[in-house]
This record gives sequence, structure tokens and C-alpha cells, in this order.
Amino acid sequence: MTIVALEHVSKNFTGLPVLADINLELRAGEVVALLGKSGSGKSTLLRTIAGLVEPSSGRVSYRGEELRGANPGTAMVFQSFALLPWLTVRENVELGLQARGVAPAERRRRAEEMIDLIGLDGFAGAYPKELSGGMRQRVGFARALVLEPDALLMDEPFSALDVLTAENLRGELMALWGSAQFPTRAICVVTHNIEEAVLLADRVLVLGANPGRITAEITVPLSRPRDRRGAGFLAVVD
Ligand code: ADP
Ligand code: MG
Repeated sequence: MTIVALEHVSKNFTGLPVLADINLELRAGEVVALLGKSGSGKSTLLRTIAGLVEPSSGRVSYRGEELRGANPGTAMVFQSFALLPWLTVRENVELGLQARGVAPAERRRRAEEMIDLIGLDGFAGAYPKELSGGMRQRVGFARALVLEPDALLMDEPFSALDVLTAENLRGELMALWGSAQFPTRAICVVTHNIEEAVLLADRVLVLGANPGRITAEITVPLSRPRDRRGAGFLAVVD
């Protein structure tokens, strides 16, 4: 099933082309990486999928319906976490549910459940400044996943973390992705790191710059570390 489709999407900013004739589909069950150099239009493309950037021409659809405004089936994770420093972990995670009109008790229950799932048990009442970078990004993941988005959109989510923290969090994410608890059906990850793209994704779309257009599509072959995902929990049981 196709979750999000872009057909012949172009975007100009003040007359300058940033994206040109982008065609892509994000399907249920897959992880797609958007790989490109800095300035190639990756963030603009991801924001277009999220419905936060309106294309200059072409069509963006969510489950077959042309998008008007924000895409209700997506949630984003940002490179710089984008947490509100004056709110606790739980309050940050609850924000999107609050915006959707979920009642306080239900909001709290779902936020706490997600905080535990993402490995932050015991930190619901902490403030972002009390957390390490890796933990802050866990909050970023919890805040997005608590919305149970059809598609999780991540913009260089590991770039601000040190190598080991990034590797840990990537591994945990992919193990969760393979588990029944994981409340999302597809992932689109923006990265400039080719290793990360190949590690995480089933398909890698390479974005060439000036303007951003898809210059290559790589289907990642099986039998790589990623294929241990889902088997992760079983391996522990073994
Ligand atoms: P990437 O994420 O690959 O680094 P971006 O999508 O952030 O690339 O940016 C691609 C190009 O579009 C850059 O030249 C950037 O300056 C320009 N750009 C992005 N957003 C805007 C905006 N809101 N207004 C004007 N130019 C923008
Ligand atoms: Mg970017």
C-alpha cells in the first residue's frame, strides 16, 4: 500500500529551483533513505512529504488523497531535537496529542507508555537540559511515535550525536521497527551518510543538487546487518 506519493513535484524558493520533478512513493513496510549532499534539498523534500512545504507544481498525496496543508499521516524527528526546554519529557511528548484534542488522562497514559518503550523510563518528569543528547533524541522519537504516524519522517536524526550514541540509537530503532509494538508503518530518513542510508533503508534515493532531483535509486540487497532487525528480540531470547 502506498502511504505517501509525490508526482512531478517541483519547488522554487524566490524563483530558484530547489526540487525538480520529484517522483517518489513511500509504501507500507519500507524504510526509504533520502541521501544527498548538504543543500541538495533533502529537508525541503521531507517537509514536502510532511505537507509543511507546498510544492510549486506537481502533486503530493496521502493514501491517494491530494494533500492540503499538513500531512496527518506523518510525524517528524529533527536533527536538533527541537524540544521545548521549559516542558518536562512527558509534557513534550504529550504536545502533539494535546493539539489533537486527546483528553489529559489518555494523553498521559500514551505518553508514559511511549517514554518507556523508547528507553526513557524514570525520566518522564525530567527537563531536556538534564538529559544527554542521545536521551534528548529519544524524547524526539517518543514525541513523534506517540502520534502513531503512518510514516515516521526523520531529518538527519543521528547527526548531532556522537558515533557510539548514534549507533546505539539506530540499532534500537531498527529492532523496534521490526517489533509489533512499533506504531508506524513506514520510515523516511534523510541523511548525508551513505553508510547510514544503506544500514537503515530498503531503498535509497539519491538526491543530486541544483536543483534537487532524484539521480539514482538503489534497492539495498538483503543479507546486511539491517536484516537482523526484527530478529533482534528473538536473538536475545535465544
Ligand atoms: P538539505 O537539507 O539537503 O541541506 P535544504 O532543503 O535545507 O537542503 O535546502 C536546499 C536549498 O533550498 C538551499 O539552497 C536552501 O538555502 C534553500 N532553502 C531551503 N528552505 C528555504 C526557504 N524557506 N526559503 C528560501 N530558500 C530555502
Ligand atoms: Mg537538511
